[in-house]
Amino acid sequence: MPGSELFGAEERKEVNDVLETGMLFRYNHDAQRKGIWKAREFEEEAKKITGAKYAHAVCNGSAAIATALAASGVGAGDEVIVPPFTFIASVEAVLFVGAIPVFAEIDETLCLSADGIEKAITKNTKAVCLVHMCGGMADMDPIMQVINDYNLILVEDAGQAFSSSYKGTSTGLFGTAGSYSFDFFKIATAGEGGIVVTNDEEVYKLIDTYSDHGHNHVGAKRGMEQHPILGFNYRISELHAAVALAQTRKVPQIREINRRHKKALTEILSQTEGISFARIADADGDSSTFLNILLPDTESAKRTVDEFNKAGVAGFDYWFMNMYHFINQWDHLKNLQTAAKLPVEIFGSSQDYKNLYLPKTQEVIGRLISFGIRCTWTDEEVKNLANNISQCVKNVLSVAV
Ligand SMILES: *Cc1c(COP(=O)(O)O)cnc(C)c1O
Repeated sequence: MPGSELFGAEERKEVNDVLETGMLFRYNHDAQRKGIWKAREFEEEAKKITGAKYAHAVCNGSAAIATALAASGVGAGDEVIVPPFTFIASVEAVLFVGAIPVFAEIDETLCLSADGIEKAITKNTKAVCLVHMCGGMADMDPIMQVINDYNLILVEDAGQAFSSSYKGTSTGLFGTAGSYSFDFFKIATAGEGGIVVTNDEEVYKLIDTYSDHGHNHVGAKRGMEQHPILGFNYRISELHAAVALAQTRKVPQIREINRRHKKALTEILSQTEGISFARIADADGDSSTFLNILLPDTESAKRTVDEFNKAGVAGFDYWFMNMYHFINQWDHLKNLQTAAKLPVEIFGSSQDYKNLYLPKTQEVIGRLISFGIRCTWTDEEVKNLANNISQCVKNVLSVAV
């Protein structure tokens, strides 16, 4: 979690600017705020990094994806293709805007594949919620081909892919709208925060209004502006935006260091028989927040995890067993355990979530172990980690079962 590793004087300065005026609210109150607009500055900084025409900060990445879906016109009863490997927020967002998730296959990019999307399309498919996983990106050229061929809406959850891109275009900007998270575990953190990006002015206006009860933010007096639509409160506070601003400024530097560490790890580990890597659709666009290694099969991956634990190798995720990120552990979804009835329970789903057949996804995630790359590592630590990983894998693969 690189952003949080570099918390320091820059973050304190931005927060103190806000504390000095006491204006914690992002809109209006022009006289009291003495020219301090942290949410706006955070949005400008995010636009610089992503190249987005429009960016709107919200309270977290889950609210950001919900807002992106709604502003893209995805709502009650719409079928939305989603990946079975993602942080659960992407699927919850689809459910809570009233839509129906349909799970499709991922591939070695760790994201939905064009083929997986195409096979999941039905006559009711309205949109695809594409998630760019583990700091990388989906393979966009073939995916855009399918999106265009079938005239689908594309919404991107780039929650963990801020600063990643594909052939020069930032993740989040291929579809109608895209979202990023700035929670504590991301490349830049606000504590809790998110941002929605788009290149479409009309979509931006919907994002801006939807995330603040429909207020259109025209005029200088809070509460007196028009409200063209109903919305909800997904606002970010100025305190969170202040932290996000300082952190976002550090992203180019963090990314540079991450890339160097990832290159060094990859160079050493590619010498070890049995280790391969998740496919990076555009190596130049990788934010390099994760090193994603693939073992020959699920069994050897599980034994490698045991070997890591024995050897004291830390800082990895085995998503196959992870409660938050992989469908195998989502019993609450499979059984539709909800606090109160959701539209999906009325419309019904064309898929039985308890009996999904996703063999490719099971194979890829079964083999995957991800290491979070830390920008504060020394070169020595990187080398030691690579050697330890390599030794553990050798131990596992040299033992016949
Ligand atoms: C972190 C994350 C989210 C949720 O973001 P929060 O800010 O924690 O609400 C959504 N999608 C993905 C892919 C994420 O990694």
